[in-house]
Amino acid sequence: MNRAERLMLIGALAMIAGGYYKINELAAIGVILFLLSIIWHLLSRPKKHLVATTKRKRRRIPKHVQHEVWQRDQACCVECGSKENLEFDHIIPLSKGGSDTVRNLQLLCEKCNRKKHAKI
Ligand SMILES: [Zn+2]
Repeated sequence: MNRAERLMLIGALAMIAGGYYKINELAAIGVILFLLSIIWHLLSRPKKHLVATTKRKRRRIPKHVQHEVWQRDQACCVECGSKENLEFDHIIPLSKGGSDTVRNLQLLCEKCNRKKHAKI
């Protein structure tokens, strides 16, 4: 249970107890605590989401490798020679044991890259 949830529980209990024993102040504090904890909960959620996505994010190709591939392929698509929407393509996909090395990378334009992935 995190802090927001604990606060929500305390708020809810205070609200119920205040209402039960007819202690208006306690009930009012309970309502405030409960609402605050909901706001807190909502505010703290995006952060958790962010952590989850950064953890899941694919590792980036090292800058020096990108640079070398870019130079070798002369900043154009190795399939059609286009210079637009270039992407680094893993010749052997990472999922099939390929690595982030110069030999396993090539420049493809977005169109050729999509075509290649459609074939695999
Ligand atoms: Zn292309």
